Amino acid sequence: MSEIISVRNLTKKFENGVYALQNVNLSIEKGDIFGIIGMSGAGKSTLIRCLNYLEKPSEGNVFVNGKNLAEQSESELRLIRRNMGMIFQNFNLLMQKTVLENVQFPLDIQGIEKAEGKKRAQELLTMVGLEEKEKAYPVQLSGGQKQRVAIARALASNPEVLLLDEATSALDPKTTVAILELLKEIQKKYQVTIVLITHEMEVVKVICNKVAILEDGYLVEEGSVECLNKRFG
Ligand code: ADP
Repeated sequence: MSEIISVRNLTKKFENGVYALQNVNLSIEKGDIFGIIGMSGAGKSTLIRCLNYLEKPSEGNVFVNGKNLAEQSESELRLIRRNMGMIFQNFNLLMQKTVLENVQFPLDIQGIEKAEGKKRAQELLTMVGLEEKEKAYPVQLSGGQKQRVAIARALASNPEVLLLDEATSALDPKTTVAILELLKEIQKKYQVTIVLITHEMEVVKVICNKVAILEDGYLVEEGSVECLNKRFG
């Protein structure tokens, strides 16, 4: 397997003096479902936001497909971000738009022709099991359904990487399992690389092939999921 994301000596110090990340190194390979686990305040959100430069590191580098993000222009960064779909805990759907419009929105922005965008959005909604809901509005959906829409939207521009920021934390356990199963299916079908952050051990155990453990900004362990058992018993 080949490396798709490489994090080298990454440090993030915020303006208030807080070190959210301290000299973090990690390597994510194509096709990984890579979990970053840690308690609240460990630096997980900061780290995942550094992976696509929504947050700029204070020191160190992030490489995506061998490109050093520090050396990219804003327009190059936009293209790289398009290749790294992001999914959030609170879904971040556009409430005034229908399910179909939400999924189609990134394609419209990219200037994809309307009919083609609609067809792609409908295919994705079928894939996430929501073909019946294309005319519904987010407020009419359950949490799990909203997250399915967000997943379809993140896949619209055919990204190589999906970044999940506590994507199942707002869901009940049964819905969480269903969403994790869907993500596994997506990984197989599209060969996408998934990076997720979570505070839930179960999420990592169910879905990830690799894991990194963050504690107070330090990466204290990286390896196969078995290293969780070694550390936490
Ligand atoms: P986690 O996602 O693991 O809960 P975060 O990455 O959100 O952790 O936060 C790590 C640390 O950085 C915390 O101490 C948090 O208070 C601090 N932090 C996060 N964002 C900012 C910010 N924009 N400004 C100052 N401190 C921040």
